[in-house]
Amino acid sequence: MDLMHFNEGELVGVLTTQPIDRVLDYKAPEGGVMLGAFVEVPLGPRKVIGVVWGKGTGDYDYAKVRSIIRVLDVAPMREEMQTFLARAAAYTLTPMSAMLRLATRAPGLGDPPSMRKVYRLGTGAPDRITDARTKVIEVLRDYGGLSFTMKELAEMAGVGTSVVKGLVKQGVVSEEEAPRDTPYPALDPDYGRKALTADQEEVATVLLDGIAAGTYGTTLLKGVTGSGKTEVYLEAVAACLRAGRQALVLLPEIALTGEFLTRVEARFGMKPAEWHSGVTMTERRRCWKMVGQGAAQLVVGARSALFLPFQNLGLIVVDEEHDTSYKQEDGVLYNARDMAVLRASLNDAQVILASATPSLESWANVEAGKYHRLTLTSRFGDAVLPQMSAIDMRVEDVPGGKWVSPALKNAMKDRLEKHEQSLIFLNRRGYAPITLCRACGHQIGCDHCDARMVEHRFLKRLMCHQCGETKPMPTKCPHCEAEDRLSAVGPGVERMGEEVQALFPDARVAVLSSDLYGSARAMKAHIEEIAQGGCDIIIGTQLVAKGHNFPNLTLVGVIDADLGLQGSDLRAAERTFQLMRQVAGRAGRAEKPGEALLQTYQPEHAVIRAILAGDEESFWAAEAEERKAAGVPPYGRMAGIVLSSPNVQEVFDVGADMARRDMPLREIGAQVFGPAPAPIARIRGRHRVRLLVKADKQAPLQKALATWVGQFKLPNSLRLSIDIDPQSF
Ligand code: ADP
Ligand code: ZN
Repeated sequence: MDLMHFNEGELVGVLTTQPIDRVLDYKAPEGGVMLGAFVEVPLGPRKVIGVVWGKGTGDYDYAKVRSIIRVLDVAPMREEMQTFLARAAAYTLTPMSAMLRLATRAPGLGDPPSMRKVYRLGTGAPDRITDARTKVIEVLRDYGGLSFTMKELAEMAGVGTSVVKGLVKQGVVSEEEAPRDTPYPALDPDYGRKALTADQEEVATVLLDGIAAGTYGTTLLKGVTGSGKTEVYLEAVAACLRAGRQALVLLPEIALTGEFLTRVEARFGMKPAEWHSGVTMTERRRCWKMVGQGAAQLVVGARSALFLPFQNLGLIVVDEEHDTSYKQEDGVLYNARDMAVLRASLNDAQVILASATPSLESWANVEAGKYHRLTLTSRFGDAVLPQMSAIDMRVEDVPGGKWVSPALKNAMKDRLEKHEQSLIFLNRRGYAPITLCRACGHQIGCDHCDARMVEHRFLKRLMCHQCGETKPMPTKCPHCEAEDRLSAVGPGVERMGEEVQALFPDARVAVLSSDLYGSARAMKAHIEEIAQGGCDIIIGTQLVAKGHNFPNLTLVGVIDADLGLQGSDLRAAERTFQLMRQVAGRAGRAEKPGEALLQTYQPEHAVIRAILAGDEESFWAAEAEERKAAGVPPYGRMAGIVLSSPNVQEVFDVGADMARRDMPLREIGAQVFGPAPAPIARIRGRHRVRLLVKADKQAPLQKALATWVGQFKLPNSLRLSIDIDPQSF
């Protein structure tokens, strides 16, 4: 590649992370600067970080243009990364500065390198040898010349740090100062390789051909849970490493467990680089820098890892590609799955979208010939898919305030006797969704949002699931002041825990819900302990549905299979189908066959029937027909425009005005609907309305939206955000 270099004093355009939507002119500093360099520039009285985006405009008096302060000691941004950010900005209608912020999320980017103590094998001989000391020495020998921090070394050897310190004193282990930002140990593509089954081999061969071609291509890798999708895409990662290119595996945040990293380590001999919210600042900075130097071959990360400065990206895997958490719902509204495809296409890289229940979007892209499809049809080994059936709640005898049907209870009893695990699934956090006053009928709501407060008995508080506000559980009704008349209505996982424990007093029951933990790490540790057999019955929300392996789990009971079908969202059927299939997939992964029981009041509902029959092809065909008829994604284009303001009148007035003056949209044949209350109609004291814009697949939607929105002078109190491809419609 021809890297452009600017000499000292030459004008360059710098894009900063500050919300100014122009590239600003600066003079190249002493020694000059490269295109794409990360630099520090003066902006008013401040110093800010930016990237040399191109030539300067020359629109300003040269004498007054300031100089770049310094060039940061990190790899310059590559041209295709610039293109990626520009295209992503244009697609999501996001200012470039906000896009650049995503790409500079390295804490302490401009700081000098910080040092830390590391340990490696020294030359001294120990005065005496103990088991613990031998372990430390073996670890260091196994890993050749690598050095580790005290904590890493002690953990890997399974000894206390005092053992290592003793060895340091005698010179057996040497101590030195090293920069914190060190390369990641090399991964061995041939380490821990498993023999693939014939089916897997066939799929892997196609994927490997794609890697070998060194061109862009997207493959939808579909296969039931436990069919070996992970096994197969790790082969593609291995091929990518052999080709000397970098690989990125994206997982939904919640699935980023130690379990997965251990698996990668078992396959490649070393842990990969990690990028997600649970990673320390120091480690993030190291990851960012090393990815930029090509000294991290594989990154396992959450969606924002897409914006890391890869030097030679050859493969992006998006695992659980249908997962709604790939859609960022704050700040820049992007879908990591779609952005992965964009990024790969600019890097001549391959994309693998893996899922047991692909999104309708990917399905449609396969149909349209844009994605290639590969399928794994059977589970690995003798494991079979769980037997799924419905429990018709209309005929079951369940007392008021209880939710477990006799049929489900019997199935659980059977598992307890066989010492197997059961999972009871209810996608509702807290104790009860409604707190109702029996005297006046008042339901306690959030003061700042349009949502009910949910009782969390474990925390002894009421919580708003929209804004996170909590308050102590009151003893009297805030409305009529009646004492002791507040009662819990409806089930949440905590309440299910109580009910199940009462049914089986001797069973070990564990409730798994994200708010019961102080940190993501604590939660993941608990999940792993449970997977190892640390309890008999798991009661869980959505978070157990993803990626965790429970080898002894043979029964899944869904308390309310109808829950996701309520409401008018056109995606509700797809979501319910995916979630139910995924939850059911938790059972019977190992040698033991599993069973899934769905409690439902509408067993004849088309979606429930499709779930039970596992008849995906016809389910998707029916879904596709419905979406085509409605002209909505993936067969049409949509955008949601959300207006928010503390003043409810204002949002509706502006919304109505926008809907009236819709000429730029009509010109491309697009339609505007609304304004209507947004899916979250009030949050943190701000009222929200939404306009939905619908257009044909080929229409230049972004351009028309920009012109349309640009017509309006919005009051300062009002915020507008544009969501291309909204999650709900
Ligand atoms: P998926 O990603 O489709 O859910 P996995 O790749 O996790 O499937 O495979 C399910 C289980 O079967 C894992 O424990 C995995 O290690 C094992 N497995 C799959 N394929 C093989 C193979 N070819 N050899 C050995 N074990 C395998
Ligand atoms: Zn709230």
